[in-house]
Amino acid sequence: MKKAIIVTAMLSALAAPSIAKETPKVSVATQEVVPGIHMLYGEGGFIGGNMGLLVGDEAVVLIDDGMPNALDLINKSIAGISDKPIDYLVNTHVHGDHAGNNAAMSEAGAHIVAHENLRQHMLDKGVQGPEGMVPAPKAALPVLTFSDRMTFHFNGQPATVFHLPQAHTDGDALIHFTEANVIHMGDTFFNGLFPFIDLDSGGTLEGYIHAQMKVISMSNDETKIIPGHGPLASKADLQKALDMLIDCKKIIMAEIKKGHDIEQIVKDNPLHKYHDDWNWGFITTERMTRQLYNDLSQHATSGSGHSHGGGQGHSH
Ligand SMILES: [Zn+2]
Repeated sequence: MKKAIIVTAMLSALAAPSIAKETPKVSVATQEVVPGIHMLYGEGGFIGGNMGLLVGDEAVVLIDDGMPNALDLINKSIAGISDKPIDYLVNTHVHGDHAGNNAAMSEAGAHIVAHENLRQHMLDKGVQGPEGMVPAPKAALPVLTFSDRMTFHFNGQPATVFHLPQAHTDGDALIHFTEANVIHMGDTFFNGLFPFIDLDSGGTLEGYIHAQMKVISMSNDETKIIPGHGPLASKADLQKALDMLIDCKKIIMAEIKKGHDIEQIVKDNPLHKYHDDWNWGFITTERMTRQLYNDLSQHATSGSGHSHGGGQGHSH
């Protein structure tokens, strides 16, 4: 019996290199969430955040538009669902992996819709270019902005777009298909992954927690939730992420109250119990620890200047 296990292990070890040699083909896969509403996501590589697509006789509405280098794959994937052009493009937030193809999409005829802070952010800071930030081309800017909420009325699928204040950034939008019971959360939800809270772009831990609580209050057991990253989710998946986040907040807060500095906390690794389930390449357990510390120490010891950085990225 023992031998059989060893042989099996050896065979898989031998098989592994040939599997690794096959370069995975990157594609934009689609999943019909409910009739007329689809989720688009990367397979075999990173193409940006999850997208949403409403199709029908009256209008085509796209939610987020991925990374610039994935434009052709995204267009191909959309063309497989609808032969109509995109009428409206909603940006859930400003990051380049969600709004990276704005200029191309608007030049092809889409009207860009976003929270007013997103437009201002693009005007002030520009957009992600191949080698860093560049001034935003006019075509990349939203032409329709909202402050609190607005509603689309197309294809018998009303969609209300809400602002979620100071959550992942300061310009987050959530899209709620009220009849279909489908919600696109952008990056206010990373399903099964530690979240990124972009403190440099106006995000806050408190706002992030409130955003998730709000969506839970709007959901029931049948609600389908498109997260910014990770697979299509349920209310229970979101509750799990929220419980984890609230517990992590409590843990880091306790460390701060003990007077530990960030290097001590990173060394002690108090979030280790979440490592196996939530750590990933972009937000590692260490980076999760640092971003929570950066947020909580600012608010706990107002202005004491404990900001030891965590290396802020400009995507996700
Ligand atoms: Zn993001």
